[in-house]
Amino acid sequence: AVTPRIALVTGTTSGIGAAVVKHFCELGHQVLAVDFNPDGKAVAEAAGAAFYQADLTDPDACRGAVEEAVSRFGGLDILVNNAGIQHVAAIEDFPEAKWRQIIDLMLTAPFLLTQAAWPHMRKKGWGRVVNIASIHAQVASPGKAAYVSAKHGMIGLTKTAALEGGEQGITANAICPAYVKTPLVDNQIADQAKLHGMGEQEVIENIMLKNAAVKRLIEPAEVAQLVAYLTSDAAGAVTGASWNIDLGWTAH
Ligand code: NAD
Repeated sequence: AVTPRIALVTGTTSGIGAAVVKHFCELGHQVLAVDFNPDGKAVAEAAGAAFYQADLTDPDACRGAVEEAVSRFGGLDILVNNAGIQHVAAIEDFPEAKWRQIIDLMLTAPFLLTQAAWPHMRKKGWGRVVNIASIHAQVASPGKAAYVSAKHGMIGLTKTAALEGGEQGITANAICPAYVKTPLVDNQIADQAKLHGMGEQEVIENIMLKNAAVKRLIEPAEVAQLVAYLTSDAAGAVTGASWNIDLGWTAH
């Protein structure tokens, strides 16, 4: 049986985050779903989770989210940093404001959430941090300077948290998926089609799955299963690692 835990998941209105919330609720965890999109409330409640609306580019909102989990459920055992966005443009044309927004949301917010969650995990002598990075934490693609930089940085944050948490019962790991079937990828297909002057099917086959041995997109539920393993008691010896779900991409 799975030990019931208190979990905070970010970016939960759609895609990977929504799948993680659903899976955690099915395992019997108490879950706070955090998203800036108010539509996330209905999604969270349908899964059996509580919802907290917050724009995580705001540092106070990050701290507020952790406070909400602690005051509602009495602690915080599991943090899943998942919220993310993409913007595709060449470095030459990349808007500075977009760069800052992506770094704030995808690197600074995970840091602030980890910082705020830490004392609650340390107090219990048990904690799990899972950072949803990307295969773009390990390799780059043209047009994704901010995303690739934030995701590479997230691996550094994960490794540092793993070293600091080792003697406190806290583990930290990253998951690095290739393309998962979510709205974020639907938008990218359209953006890449524009950038490369290609049709959408051509983008999926020739760009997204070019380096894939398994020629299909990944399901959000497949990522949620790995999150469940990494946040389980069984994974206590697993920390500081990057877990690829990449269709064989990096085997090249
Ligand atoms: P998605 O667009 O379906 O979900 C992202 C969620 O983040 C949404 O619910 C959105 O509302 C939320 N969000 C965006 N900005 C926010 C903000 N400022 N404050 C709070 N919430 C905010 O995308 P997804 O594909 O499920 O992506 C989830 C994570 O997985 C991201 O970090 C992404 O980089 C990563 N990832 C996705 C893929 C993929 O192929 N889809 C691959 C590798 C990694």
